[in-house]
Amino acid sequence: MKFAIQSKGDDSSNTLMHRIKMYLLDFDLIYDEDQPDIVISVGGDGTLLYAFHRYSSRLDKTAFVGIHTGHLGFYADWVPEEIEKLVIAIAKTPFQVIEYPLLEVIIRYQNGGRESKYLALNESTVKNIEATLVMDVEIRGEHFERFRGDGLCVSTPSGSTAYNKALGGAIIHPSISAFQVTEMASINNRVFRTIGSPLVLPGHHTCMLKPVNQTDFHITIDHLTLLHKDVKSIQYRISDKKIRFARFRPFPFWKRVHDSFISDE
Ligand code: NAD
Repeated sequence: MKFAIQSKGDDSSNTLMHRIKMYLLDFDLIYDEDQPDIVISVGGDGTLLYAFHRYSSRLDKTAFVGIHTGHLGFYADWVPEEIEKLVIAIAKTPFQVIEYPLLEVIIRYQNGGRESKYLALNESTVKNIEATLVMDVEIRGEHFERFRGDGLCVSTPSGSTAYNKALGGAIIHPSISAFQVTEMASINNRVFRTIGSPLVLPGHHTCMLKPVNQTDFHITIDHLTLLHKDVKSIQYRISDKKIRFARFRPFPFWKRVHDSFISDE
């Protein structure tokens, strides 16, 4: 089996990375940064997000596992003290794979022709560069509302515990193929109206955002923020690709939610 390790880059993550690499090489696994069967992320959720984007062109061939060197992560759920156990499991046992849905984002531009396509593991957000964001929101090709406010967040089920949660969105179990649209400070008065509640759309629906007057936006894809100019539309739906996590022990989603947000006792 071929493996790669993605480190957060700080001293403790780098030290752990070198130890894991030595152990796995001792077990005759092959270090291959280009075509790994498994990627071990050492750091935090941000490190796993980075690893996901680095290997997003080979998601059907690569599984991910995360170790956290800081606080408990949602994707990075192994602790450094467990690495001997994890290394033996990687080297000796065929691992179980758990798949989570991903968000497909397609940005089209005024000048036609080209489009940009992205995959998000957590979410994509849209914010205006200055002033209020004004977007027409279409669901399955039908006008739903004209949104005015700070921005919109479109998240995956596994991303529902991240930015989405801070915006009052629901937590969605990642076995459900769905995505969620949440508002950031919408303007609601007698003139302007938005739904006000987070929307959960099934995996086969599409949500399209169409700018009304503005054309340039800050669009985030997980940890990446990019300025897109001359935007005509932003299309969201659940991708037919999935992220594959290597599971070596049960750590159910609701237990992770509990341990992250309620208490780890
Ligand atoms: P960061 O360093 O700002 O960390 C953000 C925090 O989000 C970390 O504590 C991380 O553990 C946590 N996190 C990431 N994914 C999570 C998930 N799926 N469930 C629960 N917690 C999660 O930034 P980063 O590490 O580069 O992560 C980028 C993510 O930060 C974005 O995808 C977004 O979800 C999140 N974010 C959150 C807010 C907010 O809560 N107000 C604002 C901006 C970005």
